Amino acid sequence: MSFENLGLMPELLRAVRDEGYEHPTPVQEQAIPAILEGRDLLAGAQTGTGKTAGFVLPILQLLAPSANSSASPARHPIRCLILTPTRELCMQIEESVRTYGRHLPLRSTSVYGGVNINPQVKALRSGVEILVATPGRLLDHYGQNNLNFSHLDFLVLDEADRMLDMGFIRDIRKILALLPTKRQNLLFSATFSDEIRDLAGAFLKNPVFIDV
Ligand code: AMP
Repeated sequence: MSFENLGLMPELLRAVRDEGYEHPTPVQEQAIPAILEGRDLLAGAQTGTGKTAGFVLPILQLLAPSANSSASPARHPIRCLILTPTRELCMQIEESVRTYGRHLPLRSTSVYGGVNINPQVKALRSGVEILVATPGRLLDHYGQNNLNFSHLDFLVLDEADRMLDMGFIRDIRKILALLPTKRQNLLFSATFSDEIRDLAGAFLKNPVFIDV
């Protein structure tokens, strides 16, 4: 299996080559085509399996403006929200978004707690298509009117089991209620408890299930 066979666009194949990746990992082989088809996804995958590229690459492709698109480039509404449990993961995922998206004109930022909120406000005001966030800080920004989700197309819950272990379930439910209902949803979790299944049942629509 090659990245070419997965249906990725040239800008993303270039980025993957820049990273020196030769073959997709098992989670990438399964997740990338399903996400490109527009399916919701429930994925059991640990850190280290390549799951980040597994969701970031297809989302970048679905968000990439087509060459003949006449949409105004001046506005950058949030199209994709990626929720993660910790600041470290948040920074790592945003770094991956920048790496894999380096040949595409898409903007991203991350917001997480434990640091001054003002630089994050500035970054949000400048406009980003992809936002990586921890749940508590995301709600702080929402409360300050720094966020508009009316153009949101994608929601990713990464390391959902850790988010539940860290007590984020109420925040996640609050966030779900703020988002447009017509969107593509992806949930990644290393383990599947009843609580994860309940959460998945509450917001995934007819998901493809992958477990690697
Ligand atoms: P993740 O599981 O998303 O945290 O990724 C783990 C590590 O695998 C990261 O350092 C990636 O750069 C690397 N990686 C992701 N996909 C591939 C691939 N197809 N081939 C080689 N390395 C990869």
